[in-house]
Amino acid sequence: MIKSNRVTAYVGLGSNLEQPQSQVLKALTELAHLPNTSLTTKSSLYRTSPVGPSDQPDFINAVASLLTALSPEELLDELQSLEQRHGRTRQGMRWGPRTLDLDLLLFSDMTIDTARLQVPHPRIAERAFVLYPLAEIAPGNLMIPGVGLLNNLFESISETGIERIA
Ligand code: ATP
Ligand code: MG
Ligand code: MG
Repeated sequence: MIKSNRVTAYVGLGSNLEQPQSQVLKALTELAHLPNTSLTTKSSLYRTSPVGPSDQPDFINAVASLLTALSPEELLDELQSLEQRHGRTRQGMRWGPRTLDLDLLLFSDMTIDTARLQVPHPRIAERAFVLYPLAEIAPGNLMIPGVGLLNNLFESISETGIERIA
């Protein structure tokens, strides 16, 4: 297989409805089967307290790294259609409960700022539920464009409200 045109992308997964753990495990399998894409590594699952509205169930979160020949927009299309297949509905409050959220965290070393896609994900640096699973599978010297080294981001976040599931 020719892989030279493939780049690394990191995807954040989250769910807090309808058996969140199963939703995330199933989504990891589905990511591994995306066209022109392979799944390189997946983090452990993490149980995390909701960010934003707090009157909702805890989340299950994880991060996966992919090698993909898709464009960033094609990958976002695929992620959004997986969300739909998991019954994700887009009405309701921001950061409210959802069966599946798939966010494109990083795409190679690219910076993208369009109406439908911002990469790196704009809230990556403030989210323990992203940084802990990301650090589990990414090199510590991973450079997040416009933000800095992954390893330097932990000083400013709290590890309360996040628990790695064995
Ligand atoms: P947050 O982005 O703060 O995690 P959310 O995941 O709940 O919030 P969504 O409802 O899943 O937000 O997505 C809202 C919109 O964000 C989508 O329609 C999508 O076009 C846009 N978007 C911009 N950048 C990204 C990205 N890097 N990954 C996924 N969606 C993105
Ligand atoms: Mg999100
Ligand atoms: Mg999202």
